[in-house]
Amino acid sequence: MIDAHVHIFGDGRGEYSIERINSFIVHAQKKGINEIYMLEHTHQYSEFVQMYKPISDNNEYLRNWLSGKMKVSLEEYTRFIDKAKAYGFPIKVKFGLEVCYIPETVHILSEILKQYKWDFITGSVHFIGSFGFDHKLELWKGIDVDEAYRRYYEIMLEMIDTGLFNGVGHPDSIKCFGHYPSQNLDSTYIALAKALNKAGMYTEQSGGLVLNYKFPELGMNPGMLRIFKDNNVSILTASDAHRPEHAGMNIKELQEILDA
Ligand SMILES: [Zn+2]
Ligand SMILES: [Zn+2]
Repeated sequence: MIDAHVHIFGDGRGEYSIERINSFIVHAQKKGINEIYMLEHTHQYSEFVQMYKPISDNNEYLRNWLSGKMKVSLEEYTRFIDKAKAYGFPIKVKFGLEVCYIPETVHILSEILKQYKWDFITGSVHFIGSFGFDHKLELWKGIDVDEAYRRYYEIMLEMIDTGLFNGVGHPDSIKCFGHYPSQNLDSTYIALAKALNKAGMYTEQSGGLVLNYKFPELGMNPGMLRIFKDNNVSILTASDAHRPEHAGMNIKELQEILDA
């Protein structure tokens, strides 16, 4: 079994070390994981400050949130990856990034990504314009839910088409606070499936909302899952763990849903 989404340091603090990685592996192995994708948020690294400008310039809440992040240099992480590559971990370990996809500054992203060698790059839609929909429930006040969904998937489709990513993180995380569109989204899911296949990308069957938001539904919504399966989209199980004891969390259950 694979856990394709595990954060080394959720908030960018701490020293990168082999011991840190091993502390995740111990827990992952107990849960039957034999391959793990370690990643970090782009918002942890000072190199990405300009990439977030469309968001930080237009939203005071997100500007304050970001100002507490971006403390570490990406160099620190990539130097560690080189070291870790030479170490023999007991299971297969990949190293990459979870990128906040921001359409306006994609040129900055592509410049930074090509300076380093990555095992994988996961693209995630965390912002709809300067609306940080997964930050807190209050931010949804006054939001047109149908329009938010429309833009969320429009951004996701654009992200897939950039060719910069290997996978799409948590593809329906917009449901995180329980908001749903009034219309059926089958045609959107079909478009996503086709785009993912055309780009040769995977998406995640993620337990992140259960783990980090106490959301009641494990993995993607059943309508999306059915369409992705019907179209043979590549789907990887993913915990979205942010600490060692959560590595491999919910993976068995997520796999069972996929296999059902
Ligand atoms: Zn994410
Ligand atoms: Zn994540």
